[in-house]
Amino acid sequence: MMNRRQFFRTAAGAAIFARIPSVLAATPAKYDLIIKGGRVINSARKLNAVSDVAIANGRIAAVEPNISGDAAETIDARGKLVVPGLIDIHTHAGRVKDGPALILADGVTGFIDAGSQGADRIGEVIAVVKSAPQLGRVLLNIGRAGILPEGDTMDLSRADVNAAREAIARNREIIAGVKARLSRDVAGTNDFEVLRRTQEVASSFHLPVMIHMGQTMSPIPKLFALLKPGDIVTHMFAPPPNSIIDDAGHILPEVMAARRRGVRFDLGNGRTGHLRWDMAERILKAGFLPDTFSTDWTPEGRTSQVIDFPNVMSKFLMLGMSLDQVVACATSNASRAFEVFRGRGTLNVGAPADVAVLELRDGNFEFEDNFGNKRAGNMRLFPISTVLAGKRAANHA
Ligand SMILES: [Zn+2]
Repeated sequence: MMNRRQFFRTAAGAAIFARIPSVLAATPAKYDLIIKGGRVINSARKLNAVSDVAIANGRIAAVEPNISGDAAETIDARGKLVVPGLIDIHTHAGRVKDGPALILADGVTGFIDAGSQGADRIGEVIAVVKSAPQLGRVLLNIGRAGILPEGDTMDLSRADVNAAREAIARNREIIAGVKARLSRDVAGTNDFEVLRRTQEVASSFHLPVMIHMGQTMSPIPKLFALLKPGDIVTHMFAPPPNSIIDDAGHILPEVMAARRRGVRFDLGNGRTGHLRWDMAERILKAGFLPDTFSTDWTPEGRTSQVIDFPNVMSKFLMLGMSLDQVVACATSNASRAFEVFRGRGTLNVGAPADVAVLELRDGNFEFEDNFGNKRAGNMRLFPISTVLAGKRAANHA
């Protein structure tokens, strides 16, 4: 190796230093990437306007109309929507090796694998999530054998507090919470005790719990009494028995109280038993809007009901939510659900440059709930391209 002085003496060194003034004289590329002319929706700033987004060093550098200056790369977003990278807080992307890359192409720059595995095989999910191109975290299923066809915790001994604690202690940096699936075909009559044990595990690490509600044996008031601020209820639109709304169209008081003390309510689209159009309509009509959308993504969901995150968002445009509300549920609101996403879900200057370019197309689109009911909508969001940490990461054909 040459030291600095030796380098100066060589011809190569002289040539490089001689060229510096001319390099400085040329206008250097000011930005790494400019996304030009799209409709920018930044819920964190209540911005919804045609604007350019400039990116430098992996961060948002400017959001202004007609940004001038050079960029190494430009994305023409005219006629498109430019929104923060989507954050999907309930997926099973960790179940398959290419799961994270597949959802990245859908615009998802941050995700949670929500309980695909329990203590016995959590290492498999963690390996996938750790090698993901985007930011991902894992919820540990309280059932130590993970998701089972016969029910994760139908055998109560599978809700093993010590095994779960050890799994979290071993993987503290990647496990962001604990998942309890409480439906009668998953936990049977054990639902309350399973949730109690889940909180016992989570509280020793100050982690949130996500419950999978819907068709539980125990009534909502009994289960929700165990939820603490920051916990998440997924499958909030699940039909009876034990939904969050009564027959007269009133949200249960215990549900309202849970929201007031900081419990979050999440869609969890999925494919079986969670989303039914009439329930979603009644709950939205009662003024109880979701905090977050999530897909409950699985490889199988790519071809039925779920398809992709923008498709899931589109269902709520059909149900009457505004575009701003829909984008907030998938970005700024979602970023608040887990500590790891703080500072994301926004296009504020200085934020990590994770961006989803979407297209809102007019037309006739069919949407299906989890019960085979089909509805027609006249708008559908499509993923176009994804920018991750300032670089174009994926393009849809
Ligand atoms: Zn799920």
